[in-house]
Amino acid sequence: MAIEQSANRFVCDLVAYEPGKPIEETARELGLDPAEIVKVASNENPLGPSPLAKAAMRSALEDSHIYPDGGGWKLRNAIAQRFDMRISNVVLGNGSNEIIELLCHSFLNPDAELIAAEHAFVVYKLMATLFGAKYVEVPDPGFVHDLDAMADAITANTRLVFIANPNNPTGTVVGQEEIDRFMARVPEHVVVVFDEAYHEFLDDAPDVLRYVREGRNVCVLRTCSKIHGLAALRIGYGLCSESIAGILQKARQPFNTNAIAQAGALAALEDDEHVLRTREINREGLSFYEAAFHARGLEFVPSVANFILVKVGQGDRVFREMLAQGVIIRAMSSYKLPDWVRISVGTPAQNARCLEVLDRVLADIAAS
Ligand SMILES: *Cc1c(COP(=O)(O)O)cnc(C)c1O
Repeated sequence: MAIEQSANRFVCDLVAYEPGKPIEETARELGLDPAEIVKVASNENPLGPSPLAKAAMRSALEDSHIYPDGGGWKLRNAIAQRFDMRISNVVLGNGSNEIIELLCHSFLNPDAELIAAEHAFVVYKLMATLFGAKYVEVPDPGFVHDLDAMADAITANTRLVFIANPNNPTGTVVGQEEIDRFMARVPEHVVVVFDEAYHEFLDDAPDVLRYVREGRNVCVLRTCSKIHGLAALRIGYGLCSESIAGILQKARQPFNTNAIAQAGALAALEDDEHVLRTREINREGLSFYEAAFHARGLEFVPSVANFILVKVGQGDRVFREMLAQGVIIRAMSSYKLPDWVRISVGTPAQNARCLEVLDRVLADIAAS
């Protein structure tokens, strides 16, 4: 008997998440120096980690022999103060991805339904599959979440609704009015998750923390992986009602976030300068790409985040051929968008190199 038959069938059904291709791996395969490779595949911060976070993490290394504060008191307290909430509203995760998993652990079972948009962040679907729940995918015309349709999709079995705002990989956002209209319709038995991994890039961000403060069944996810430049540390946080936070606290491992990451996150949240510089360089990069795509007649989705979705035709091939030239982008076939690729905004030099290689690859494909 194959051992797979003894395994949980939901795990066997799972298609493993495919992350952006690592620089080291690409360098090894191509025989290149890692320094020559440009990775614009995982929406990382091109300016690197917050310098304040780096200093705090170096100093935290000295106490590496001590278990972390599993409750993350200092960091949770700072987050609570920052958002004018209580520490009991704050949950830490090993990346906000872990909080997505904790929510699914806590609220899903094989009778439950999870609602998300058709081109939403793929992790929601993976987690729904893992817990054997029904994944309800709502069309998102123009790549924008249709919250009215998502509200229509709620049934007595719905447990979780995920709204990625801005969404990855589309880079689109839904505004306050749509959100308020949606929230007015959400029944009590449903938890609404606003995944705000790119919130800090927005100029005019909708406020959903008001719903947490009102005690609604809402969980707002934020991360230190994107604007704070701490993706390697794996730390994110959730802001939610005390009841939801209490449930999630039970579902997590005792030391789910490590001490180095807690120290880094604490400092990064105070590093306004790094956040501002990142927003600035990102805004420039988005304008650069939008102008370039426009000039080339390439269809793209106007983005408010730190990446951009562009239609190049044969996304897998464009990905492979750019990779061969040392530029790592992301193909979108796993999002059922085989003609599109997603490019993260880099430094001006990285953006220029990426565009140059894209031009070359598209010209080669057109000529072949
Ligand atoms: C990047 C991302 C996350 C968070 O990732 P972590 O590194 O696990 O914090 C969550 N949601 C979306 C939509 C993302 O793009």
